[in-house]
Amino acid sequence: MRKLLASLLIASLPAAAAVTEQDIQTAQKLRDQALSSPLAYDLVKSLVVEVGPRLAGSENNKKAEDWAVAKLKSLGFDKVYTEALTIPTWTRGTIHAEIEAPYRQHLAITALGNSVGTDAKGIDAEVAFFDSLDDLKAADPKEVKGKIVFINKRMARAQDGFQYGTTVGARSRGAIEAAKLGAKAVLIRSVGTGLSRFPHTGMMHYQDDVEKIPAAAVAVPDANLLEAMVKEGKPVRLHLEMTAKPGPETTVHNVIAEVTGSEKPDEIVLIAGHLDSWDEGQGAIDDGAGIALAAAAGKLIKDLPRRPKRTIRVVFFAAEEVGLFGGKAYVAQHKDTDLAKHVLAGESDFGAGRIYRIDTRFGPKGDDLSAALNKVLGPIGVDVGSNQAGGGSEVSLMPAFGVPVVSLRQDGTHYFDYHHTADDTLNKIVPAELAQNLAAWVSTVYLAAQNDSPLRPIPEGDFGE
Ligand code: ZN
Ligand code: ZN
Repeated sequence: MRKLLASLLIASLPAAAAVTEQDIQTAQKLRDQALSSPLAYDLVKSLVVEVGPRLAGSENNKKAEDWAVAKLKSLGFDKVYTEALTIPTWTRGTIHAEIEAPYRQHLAITALGNSVGTDAKGIDAEVAFFDSLDDLKAADPKEVKGKIVFINKRMARAQDGFQYGTTVGARSRGAIEAAKLGAKAVLIRSVGTGLSRFPHTGMMHYQDDVEKIPAAAVAVPDANLLEAMVKEGKPVRLHLEMTAKPGPETTVHNVIAEVTGSEKPDEIVLIAGHLDSWDEGQGAIDDGAGIALAAAAGKLIKDLPRRPKRTIRVVFFAAEEVGLFGGKAYVAQHKDTDLAKHVLAGESDFGAGRIYRIDTRFGPKGDDLSAALNKVLGPIGVDVGSNQAGGGSEVSLMPAFGVPVVSLRQDGTHYFDYHHTADDTLNKIVPAELAQNLAAWVSTVYLAAQNDSPLRPIPEGDFGE
């Protein structure tokens, strides 16, 4: 009888809110604490000062891993560990490029990641000039054979950086398409929006059955110079020398830290950035900021009087720049163990500008969490946006395994002025903007760790990023 009465009572009660008022208040406190916290900035500063650039597989990358393990331990996480993976290495070497005719001029240029070099005497050849990768693909091989291809695709500035996706193909596939038509090398206009003379590096790819030719990026003003000469109508000749070369495989590590959940420790909220960077700058905005935010968000939650219900897993992914290797390894290593227990994942990898929107990928029962996010993030200028988030960088590999994700959209208006250049330095980070990022991340992660409504199954589809 008592049993029956109890079940009647339960049935007549309104369903418990998936996110309680108390959870929201705690998230608001974390948010406000983060807004005045120097922690994220101090972390990225420490990485920049004590390690600096950290090309995947380099000596400095090892130092960065050691820095990360020591730092995460000193922050007092419940667990700190690493997971090994194997990657190919690459060295930049030196590069020298000169316009020889019609007017002799030096070019500001940088090798693209993964590129082979030239032989010692370099390449002397006429330029075959194209406005885009598509124009190159449509070219008559006679226009290209024996020449240095130049792809002059421009990238326009935008808050969401959407043109990166439409421009970067020249960088990633330019060498393949140029070599198919018999080119000796490929140069691209830097994939960037700045006016500075820093060229933008980034990963490029080869195809097994196509000859591997050298690939490099020219700074924006130098691309303009080359374009002006081409438009004069006289043949333009270049000299290119570079010693870049792919190297042997090596072992690197994803570095992971956890705040163990108090009620459902086997369920995981993952927050990430990538630890590696390109080698010419300091890797401050890409992606020192991201790993600093992930660690700082975890630390603020750890310092609460009570652990959250679920485990917070902070991941510093390895070797993102050179091909998402850390993310691929993570998915491979976790898909048969706990990937199904990831209740939410997100990654910061778009610089350090203010967050203006949060996109989600939640199932039909995600409304409570979305409403809570709206309430907590609205006052710091973050709107809840679409439900078609990709998750960003490594995390973008996870929706295919059913993992719900968030994308916290950062203002990228100036991101591509510095992205992958020697000018990616700490002074591009505005501490107050980074603190606003931390406020958005820490409250999002905390609410997800408390939310009792399932976010799976997520909407299907490849929504990109
Ligand atoms: Zn990045
Ligand atoms: Zn990058």
